Amino acid sequence: MRSSTGLLSLLAGFGLACAHPSRGLIDSELQAKLSTGASISHDASVAPRWSEYGAPHPGTVVSVATEADVQATVQYLVKKNIPFLAQNGGHGWSGAFTLGQNGVLINLRGLNSTTFSADKTQVTIGGGAAIHEVIEQAYANDVQVLTGNCNCVGALGAGLGGGYGNLVGLYGLAIDNYLSFNVVLANGSLVTITPAQEDLWWALRGAGPNFGIVTSAVMKSTPMKQADNTAWTGGLWFTEDKIEKVTQAIEDLKLEAPMNIFLYFLTSNGTPTVLVTVFYFGTEAEGRAAFKSILDIGPYSDTTAVLPQSQWNAGADGFCTKGGRKPTYSAGFNNFVPTTWRQIWNDYNQFLTNPNTSATTVVVECYSLEKTQSFGSDSASFANRDIRFNGFTISWYPDASLDAKAEAFGSGFRDLLRADDGLSSNRTYVNFAFGDEENQEVYNDSTSRLQQLKKKYDPYNVFNQWFDL
Ligand SMILES: Cc1cc2nc3c(=O)[nH]c(=O)nc-3n(C[C@H](O)[C@H](O)[C@H](O)COP(=O)(O)OP(=O)(O)OC[C@H]3O[C@@H](n4cnc5c(N)ncnc54)[C@H](O)[C@@H]3O)c2cc1C
Repeated sequence: MRSSTGLLSLLAGFGLACAHPSRGLIDSELQAKLSTGASISHDASVAPRWSEYGAPHPGTVVSVATEADVQATVQYLVKKNIPFLAQNGGHGWSGAFTLGQNGVLINLRGLNSTTFSADKTQVTIGGGAAIHEVIEQAYANDVQVLTGNCNCVGALGAGLGGGYGNLVGLYGLAIDNYLSFNVVLANGSLVTITPAQEDLWWALRGAGPNFGIVTSAVMKSTPMKQADNTAWTGGLWFTEDKIEKVTQAIEDLKLEAPMNIFLYFLTSNGTPTVLVTVFYFGTEAEGRAAFKSILDIGPYSDTTAVLPQSQWNAGADGFCTKGGRKPTYSAGFNNFVPTTWRQIWNDYNQFLTNPNTSATTVVVECYSLEKTQSFGSDSASFANRDIRFNGFTISWYPDASLDAKAEAFGSGFRDLLRADDGLSSNRTYVNFAFGDEENQEVYNDSTSRLQQLKKKYDPYNVFNQWFDL
């Protein structure tokens, strides 16, 4: 990590540095450079965050309306040496944000467009679009688009770090499907990055927030009538005595391209329970056959159904609730060890004895990886293609009094996963990481090339809030 203390002296050498302007001066000087649709506020609640734990606390929020606004804002803030952070959906849960009252949050939500090429094989997604907005537009236009599985998350916020979603087994990750980016770089230029710009094309797909603010991305899409855009999906609910059988069955399951499977420990009507969600892009009969080994364990409730893409994410809408504290620890792993999961269940139940913690959840995501692996591990800076399972626990409670207990529970969960992970070193999907990980853990083999490119394209490290290189 580079400190930004050198930035001031470096900028001074270029005649760029000056004392931080007052909020009033930011208002008058910057507002004059923005479009009429943009606004500047000193109330951070105009851009709420999913979790208050480790959240940035900017004194100023610039809500942009055009990509020229993004460019003007970056140029102004770099020139004035004011720290800043872009925000799309506000779900980034890293606890490592350092942006304080003298910092500016660039709220991208105004850039929430989703448009399609005439033949519907390409979609252009604005840098502030939420996943539900992309899905709604795609479904209404008879198009299938790869997105993440939670409606509220920023489409590009998730995609620039990798982008897992229900259709990964069929199309690959979001990063495997981008065709170009419009991006404002650290030098203030607004450029279009395609595969021809090899370095930035590679870096943006996995470590995007470290290299610029993407104002829009063009992505592959698939023309598909609504009637064909359906999947068999939903919940299989198990009593806790089935934990060993369920985890062993997930370990043994060979995921075909249309499939994915998640495991949850969560509470239902106040009682801790075990939920397995299944997804099969195809018919119910095909889905039931593919997940036979899980169904044979005997769920006490089966809430699966054939649903259109517009409803695939609805079951996870409860996770979208903004506010409160949600420190989230994660680890990638390649072995599902039933005894470990019994221990995690016990620890989870122990944490739930604390007041107001009933929304606390443990999650494991498991996707079919063959398609994304076919693109090659060095095709983008994303470093997680070889990881079978991504586990995380969201400790969820209203105020800071439980922080220490949540940190102990969360880090203990991560330690348990790492102990049997079947990997040669600790690994975590960058978008799921807690924030205390070494670069090597989230960027793995891409770390040194990313650090070299960072020196070239962001020499003063102005994009420094997201797993800083
Ligand atoms: C409820 C929930 C569900 C999730 N589901 C999924 C999922 O299905 N698949 C998955 O892969 N991940 C998922 N995630 C993880 C998610 O990918 C990350 O939390 C992601 O960082 C959130 O993006 P955001 O835009 O909402 O958050 P933000 O906090 O706004 O952004 C996160 C980081 O990305 C940067 N950023 C955002 N937009 C841009 C942009 N346009 N240009 C440059 N930088 C940008 C921000 O500056 C910040 O550093 C989920 C997270 C939550 C909380």
